[in-house]
Amino acid sequence: MAARLMPGLERRLKAEVEGDVLFDRFSRGRYATDASHYQMMPLGVVVPRTVEDAARAIALARAEGASVLPRGGGTSQCGQSVNESLIIDCSKSLNRIVELDAAGRRCVVEPGIVLDDLNRALKPHGLWFAVDISTASRATIGGMAGNNSCGGRSLRYGTMRDNVCSIDAVLADGTPAHFGPVGGDLSAIPASSPLQPLARDLLALGAREAGEIEARFPKVQRRVGGYNLDALAPGKNDANLAHILVGSEGTLAFTTKVELKLWPLLGRRAVGACHFASFHAAMDAAQDIVKLGPIAVELVDRTMIELASAIAMFRPTIQAFVRGEPDAILLVEFGEDDQEENLRRLKRLEQLIGDLGFGWDKGGKHQGGVVEVLDPALQGAITELRTAGLNIMMSMKEEGKPVSFVEDCAVPLEHLADYTARLTAIFEKHGTRGTWYAHASVGCLHVRPVLNLRLEKDVNAMRAIAEEAFAMVRAYKGSHSGEHGDGILRSEFHETMFGPELVRAFEEVKDRFDPNGLYNPGKIVRAPKFDDRRLFRYPPGYRAEETRTALDWSAYAGAGGGFQGAVEMCNNNGACRKETGGVMCPSYRVTHDERDVTRGRANSLRLAITGQLGPDAFASDEMLQTLKLCVSCKGCRRECPTGVDMARMKIEVLAARAEKCGLSLHDRLVGYLPRYAPFAAKLPWLFNLRDRLPGAAKLSEALTGFSARRSLPRWRRDVFVEPNGSSSWPGLSRPSTPSDLAQDVDARNKRGHDGREVVLFADTFNRYFERENLDAAHAVLAAAGYRVHMPKHAGSSRPLCCGRTFLSVGKVDEARREAERSVAALLPYVARGISVVGLEPSCILGFRDEIPALLKSDAARRLADHALIFEEFLVREKKENRLDLALAAIGERALVHGHCHQKAFGAFATVTDALKLVPGLAVEPVESSCCGMAGAFGYGADTVDVSLAMRELSLLPAVRNAPSDTLIVADGTSCRHQIKDGTGRQALHVARVLAQSVAASTAR
Ligand SMILES: Cc1cc2nc3c(=O)[nH]c(=O)nc-3n(C[C@H](O)[C@H](O)[C@H](O)COP(=O)(O)OP(=O)(O)OC[C@H]3O[C@@H](n4cnc5c(N)ncnc54)[C@H](O)[C@@H]3O)c2cc1C
Ligand code: SF4
Ligand code: SF4
Repeated sequence: MAARLMPGLERRLKAEVEGDVLFDRFSRGRYATDASHYQMMPLGVVVPRTVEDAARAIALARAEGASVLPRGGGTSQCGQSVNESLIIDCSKSLNRIVELDAAGRRCVVEPGIVLDDLNRALKPHGLWFAVDISTASRATIGGMAGNNSCGGRSLRYGTMRDNVCSIDAVLADGTPAHFGPVGGDLSAIPASSPLQPLARDLLALGAREAGEIEARFPKVQRRVGGYNLDALAPGKNDANLAHILVGSEGTLAFTTKVELKLWPLLGRRAVGACHFASFHAAMDAAQDIVKLGPIAVELVDRTMIELASAIAMFRPTIQAFVRGEPDAILLVEFGEDDQEENLRRLKRLEQLIGDLGFGWDKGGKHQGGVVEVLDPALQGAITELRTAGLNIMMSMKEEGKPVSFVEDCAVPLEHLADYTARLTAIFEKHGTRGTWYAHASVGCLHVRPVLNLRLEKDVNAMRAIAEEAFAMVRAYKGSHSGEHGDGILRSEFHETMFGPELVRAFEEVKDRFDPNGLYNPGKIVRAPKFDDRRLFRYPPGYRAEETRTALDWSAYAGAGGGFQGAVEMCNNNGACRKETGGVMCPSYRVTHDERDVTRGRANSLRLAITGQLGPDAFASDEMLQTLKLCVSCKGCRRECPTGVDMARMKIEVLAARAEKCGLSLHDRLVGYLPRYAPFAAKLPWLFNLRDRLPGAAKLSEALTGFSARRSLPRWRRDVFVEPNGSSSWPGLSRPSTPSDLAQDVDARNKRGHDGREVVLFADTFNRYFERENLDAAHAVLAAAGYRVHMPKHAGSSRPLCCGRTFLSVGKVDEARREAERSVAALLPYVARGISVVGLEPSCILGFRDEIPALLKSDAARRLADHALIFEEFLVREKKENRLDLALAAIGERALVHGHCHQKAFGAFATVTDALKLVPGLAVEPVESSCCGMAGAFGYGADTVDVSLAMRELSLLPAVRNAPSDTLIVADGTSCRHQIKDGTGRQALHVARVLAQSVAASTAR
């Protein structure tokens, strides 16, 4: 690992700073990358508690001769948020709204506040901060100001520079200063202010360079390259010194507060999806479309449509608004206050597209037209798809990836068609291709050619493409840096784009602010070559150790059977750092530590397998700490735009760890539960003593690692036992009540099953702790007329098990053994096309996910195709008119918490659909992430605090607010335990709700 060690600095920071001071190799590694292809190892990281704390850290860095890199969400695409500096991470604690003047539409915030969080707080006031960038869920205002970020609606709202009123900052010498409007004669700055001489010098520089600025600064709206010298040009009575800080990428000062201009919330909108049979025609039409006054015109090209169609999450959206097979779509959004006016403009758009010669019935290159999108939900889904553009592209699994470097050019609209055609030709000349998307309205289209930056020849192609592309952009009087900034990627090209005189002026600005290069050196001015491979994430000599892995990673390239490629799928875009919505990444929502987010974990894994964290880092204690709060919820599997599946990766680490160190007693008790459960069920009083005897839980905590603050699941004698061989309902050892239900089922059985059969898989948790759920599921299936099979393994009396508990502690051999038994027992049914249905989501979905990856056998894959959660089965049968189930009303409202794995596999909708089969039942899903229990996680003495905090984020408040007659529904064993533990309310499995409803119908 490069970068000097500075023990003196570390010591002083630890003594004098309140926040976290992180100098260990893993922490530094987690901050060595942003969303660019660069990697620079920082000296260390400070996560300050307050702005005063940050100022203290900066002063210490200055005193010790270290440089400083301010950082927000670290989502920059050009390498501006990596450096061999002391990183000050503002995102965890510097995130307050300091002032809000709703009437004056102004607010003052700290730099670490995330855009979506700010907008959530502003919404009740009818306001929003309108620079609506794609990374709104994790980008901070400090980072947005640092990059002069721009949103999709910049045509209406402008860039950050247009929306920042003032900035408070700590200068390089430690002086705090307020940057805002100065008036033409600096009268707005008090004579005694330390800012006076700086302001005077800056305005003088602006006056001196006025001619060059006029001649060389591109006139396009999307110009974020270099320093904003044009803000200093004379004749500006409204000169605002904050604007020189906007876009300065942390190189001039450390921002402590930002004053922002706010806008009224957007009302109803009208969107026209303009379809074109040729990409060129779409580009040509953009200049006419903007004359209709839209607030956004966003491009989606054919490759993007095809890639999005292949992603389950986006497929329905594509189907809803794409007609035929267009080469390009321009999404034109009208957002005036008056919806009638929006509709009038939409009609004019349709007329315009017709006038330009396009029609749905024209065929050939004139085929096209406008699909009206007025439904706000579909508009929202399209925005989501559009803003996920880059990530959709990055989901390719090959080693070559779309690389950003010319992705950000902006040209005047009249040249857009020519520019895109010529750049495409340049790509082809260099043997590559690109996908186009984003902001057609302002001529700033994103495009990333596919290159493999591990290869010298592709790096050479990158330089050739950049040089040719930027020369062309300059000829069009466009901008090479239209949105994402300069960083390492584009600073080298300032001389080409702005000329040497302005580049010297940029250097003067830097030196006037920061003569000793304290802040983020080597960005914007005096930057390294953009293709210096030593600064790449994959530098020369980058290579992963060949290792034996437990699971199948063959869909990816690289060492460990593809494990390397899977880990490298993380492109650091930071989507996992979100606070609300979906599941990913639940523990981060509590800790806000980079360590506890999928990105942090993936970075640690990548550095470990490539030997950058020292020998044996993969199975080290630090790696274990890195993954400790990963609850294996699989949220990332679905929600990470590039499909990083950390739950699976964690299995590899735990397996390596188990092999190296063996298992702790705690892990043995968790992993081997299916093996000792039959004995515990024979002596439940003994095994329950821990929760019965006063003080026993406390005593056992140190020994077993189970928190004394948690009761453990209660052992019982009357566990579920399946009958010998396949059985239908009457053959069950203990039919559940009420008896009239059993009689009814019996009657149905006598009528016959019409050939309808199903396997009910009894998992360990429901079998030993909550047999009522299995009884209920059996009752429902039988009541619906299915012949229910409950197979056993031919060779042993031990119940079937999916192996989940073994996987959760890294005992992959034991997990494999269990999985093989289950596959062998279930295969004969699967071979006959019979579905295997289970109640515990993590068990049954394990058959679809980990088990095939573990066994790598055809039989396991066939079982995967037939494994369904109970509700998926019922809903499918209902859709196919095979469900004959008499149900009666049992209540008015059900509040349902989805198990993380149900959400990760897109199966949660079937849970609510199944509940909706109950007449009169209003089903309300809780907007919740993980409940916090997550298998054994919530019981661990060292994880219980995080678990308790996780449950309070949304789940338990929703349960507590629910009226007492509301049914609380949760399919996960541990979710039900968490709810009971925190609220005293008993949550039910859907099977029991349906069984009650069946019983009610029979009782009538
Ligand atoms: C998938 C994807 C989509 C994107 N879409 C957009 C988009 O639509 N529009 C857009 O404009 N950008 C976009 N970006 C780029 C990036 O997300 C934005 O520039 C964002 O504003 C960066 O915010 P951040 O908090 O991550 O900043 P960081 O990356 O952490 O920092 C950005 C810069 O600001 C500086 N900085 C941070 N905090 C401070 C501070 N307190 N004081 C001084 N300087 C500071 C840093 O030093 C750095 O130079 C996208 C990136 C990705 C990966
Ligand atoms: S883990 Fe996924 S969501 Fe998180 S930064 Fe990496 S690619 Fe993005
Ligand atoms: S499995 Fe869950 S907790 Fe673990 S990294 Fe993925 S989203 Fe985060």
